[in-house]
Amino acid sequence: MSAIILDGKALATKVEQQLARRVEAIKQHSNGTTPILATILVGDDPASATYVKMKGNACKRVGMESIRLVLDKDITTQQLMQEISKLNDNPDVHGILLQHPVPEQIDERLCFDSIALNKDVDGVTSLGFGKMVMQEFAFGSATPAGIMTILKEYNIDIAGKHAVVVGRSAILGKPMAMMLLNENATVTICHSRTENLSEFVKQADIVVGAVGRPELIRGDWIKDGAVVIDAGYHPGGIGDIELSAIKDRCYAYTPVPGGVGPMTIATLISQTVTAAEKHYLVY
Ligand code: NAP
Repeated sequence: MSAIILDGKALATKVEQQLARRVEAIKQHSNGTTPILATILVGDDPASATYVKMKGNACKRVGMESIRLVLDKDITTQQLMQEISKLNDNPDVHGILLQHPVPEQIDERLCFDSIALNKDVDGVTSLGFGKMVMQEFAFGSATPAGIMTILKEYNIDIAGKHAVVVGRSAILGKPMAMMLLNENATVTICHSRTENLSEFVKQADIVVGAVGRPELIRGDWIKDGAVVIDAGYHPGGIGDIELSAIKDRCYAYTPVPGGVGPMTIATLISQTVTAAEKHYLVY
């Protein structure tokens, strides 16, 4: 039996079509004003510049605007926080994205936490994380929130399943684990100090690879019938999981590319539209 391909690219296209209609409704409600996402890129890292550009392009596709701030790589934490503060105070801006990672002289956590909660559409603030964990309203971290949308779209059972999340970063592994827990999975979180990683992965009904190491998670660690989510992306189109080894024996998997990545961007844009709807009280 061949596995179900959890096609994030197709789902992102569908989400964008719905978003275009919501953006149109906001325009009608607000004398032609569109939602606006402000993106902040610090420095000249080419990969980060590409991600920011892709996010700006997605805004255009759904008919909304983006403001692009490019700041010098030598900027201080205080200077970056001042820029964020201006965007927080700008009523025309509905969402703020600070592209991760920032240069090392900057206190990224402090800057993330200076983003106003109602504009934290990338779900990076500590307060937003806490509220999400407590099942209060907050925008979820975009990558894991996009993964949850994929699981929902494909009717993947989560309640009672054993989910093993490999990686515990603030923007991916930790919020992923908490979102799965909130949907009643039994969750194991693994990281670089985990002993016998393969033994944990072998128990997983749902495995999430979020390690940033090409194919670190080997195919023969994954049990037959598992749901396999690969958040990684490395040159040559490979992820954090050895997907080629499990395509004919897992239940479902996210391809690389075309799985998790497109839904991260769609989720960011979707959360910006929701922020604008709240601002203009469209619903
Ligand atoms: P990160 O901040 O570098 O975190 C990596 C995590 O993996 C850490 O928790 C680390 O453990 C753990 N880890 C590293 N080596 C390990 C090992 N040998 N065994 C077990 N755990 C190990 O990375 P990230 O930002 O979460 O990103 C993870 C992956 O997702 C990357 O491939 C990245 O490109 C991808 N990503 C994709 C998207 C998207 O939109 N598609 C968005 C964000 C990230 P410690 O905590 O112990 O160091």
